[in-house]
Parts: sequence; C-alpha cells; structure tokens
Amino acid sequence: MSDVDAASGYPGLPGRTVVVTGAAGGQGAAEAILLDSLGARVVATDLGSDRPAVYEGTHVTYRPLDVSNEDHWTALAADLAQTLGGEPLKGLVNNAGITHRARLGQTARADWDRVFAVNVTGAMLGIQALAPLMARGSSIVNVGSAAGLTAHYTAAYTSSKWALRGLTHVAATEYGPRGIRANIVHPGFIETPMTDAAPQAMREAQLALTPLERMGHPGEVSSVVAFLLSDAAAYVSGAEIPIDGAFTSSSGVKYMADRIAAGTPSAVRPSLEG
Ligand code: NAP
Repeated sequence: MSDVDAASGYPGLPGRTVVVTGAAGGQGAAEAILLDSLGARVVATDLGSDRPAVYEGTHVTYRPLDVSNEDHWTALAADLAQTLGGEPLKGLVNNAGITHRARLGQTARADWDRVFAVNVTGAMLGIQALAPLMARGSSIVNVGSAAGLTAHYTAAYTSSKWALRGLTHVAATEYGPRGIRANIVHPGFIETPMTDAAPQAMREAQLALTPLERMGHPGEVSSVVAFLLSDAAAYVSGAEIPIDGAFTSSSGVKYMADRIAAGTPSAVRPSLEG
C-alpha cells in the first residue's frame, strides 16, 4: 500500500506551515509562491522590512528576518509556537545566501566571515531554532550550490556551500530518529538577481560546460524543493540533489568531448555521440 496520495504530486503540504528564508526574490520567492499554490501556509522571510510586491495576490505571509541574527530566529520560533498551536512545523527552506566572487588569494577575512555568517551559520541557527517545533514528517531543505560540489573559484562561497553539505548530513543523522528529514539541493547557474551580476566569461563557460546547454530557472529549483518538503519524499533524507543540467555530473568532460568533436573528422565523430 502506498503512503502517498496519488492525487497530489506534493502530498502533505496543504494547510501545513513552511518557512522560506531569503525569499524577497529569486529562487526563494519562486519556492514560496509554488508552496503557496500547493496549499501550504508559507512564511517568507528576507532582510527587507516590506512585503515584496512579488507576493501580491498570494497568501504568503512575509516577515523580516536576518538569518545570521540569532534573536530574529528566537522571535520567529516563539511566534510560530503561538500560531501553530501545537501542530508541528512542516518545513524549513534555508535558501538565503550571498556570494563573493573572489579567488582565495584575494579573499579578505571580513568577506569570508560575512559569507559564512549567512550561508552556513544562518542555516545552522534556523535549524536550531525551528527543529524543536518539528515532528515526524517535517522536512528541512538546504539550498547548496554546484559550487559546493566543485572547486568553483569563489573561495568563500564555495567553501561555505561545502560546509552546508556537512550541516545537512549532521541534521539528517541527528533528527532522523525524530522522523525529521534533511536534504540539500545544488542549483547550477539559475537566472536570478544573484547571477545577474556574474561575469560574462563565467556565464559563457558555464553554458559551454552544461550538457543541457542552457541556464536554469527558479521554478526548476522550487519544484524539487517542494518535492523534498512533501510526503512524496518521505524516505528521502541526507540526499544531495544537483539541479544543474548535468553540469557537475559531466565534470568538465563535455568541454573535452566538444573539443575532440570539433577537431575530429566527421567520419569518426558519430562514435563520440553514440
Ligand atoms: P538572490 O536572488 O540573491 O536571493 C538570495 C536572497 O537572500 C536575497 O533576497 C538576499 O537579500 C537574501 N539574503 C541575503 N543575506 C541575507 C540574510 N542575512 N538574511 C536573510 N536573507 C538574506 O539569489 P538566488 O539565486 O535566488 O539564491 C538563492 C539560493 O540559491 C542561495 O543560497 C544561493 O547561494 C543559491 N544558489 C544560487 C544559484 C544561482 O545560479 N542563482 C546557484 C547555486 C546556488 P538581498 O538581495 O537583500 O541581499
């Protein structure tokens, strides 16, 4: 017998409360809006004090929250304890993140600390504050990066996403006995405000190394996040899911294959593609 309600691709979300961080725009907003459309009660959070216009016409609740501020998390947990009225919190999406596009030799200590404070400590504080409100069937989704699976040049950002992987596995192990799941997704190059500022050379190289030969969209990340929050993923915990058009899977081999193909007589080329 299946535990999954076949009528819904995302069972277990309607009427349940989910917190999404860094949700003023980009992937966070896409996640909050999708979850809202699936019937979840979404608490979207970000740095700004005003409810972002992107939530016009939705039921999404907006709340200012700096993920690196422990007091903000404590206050959110206290308020949620009231509004949930004993019902467990369904999910937490640690989506907030900042990048710093500098190589190791050019990375200042202050920038390293700033990136870690948001990308790693922010997620850790969120889990510590909200896990006590969770129960069997609750789900934590951390938003990592393809950078966290590679040696991407952005030293602080890359290292922070590797650390976030470790935090995810610790959470999955520690909270597993309580029936709480923890997973991490690794977006590749997704068109958002964060990547708007990416160097053109990085954009071109990313495209050349991505087997699906295009960038991703926020909706292509939010659908996977919603799946991991839902009961359709009831036995998925401690997993790492790249959402990157096979960028990390190919591991640069696409570049090699394309170069070989470009310099190889056409009579031989089909064997490369077969
Ligand atoms: P984004 O549009 O810049 O979204 C990140 C959000 O986090 C922004 O709204 C940002 O607010 C907010 N934020 C920054 N510091 C915060 C803090 N201390 N507390 C709360 N919120 C904070 O970028 P995105 O692409 O949607 O990124 C979402 C997640 O995906 C991040 O974790 C990022 O590392 C990851 N990711 C993105 C890509 C990509 O290609 N876009 C690839 C891999 C991984 P401000 O705008 O005010 O700073």
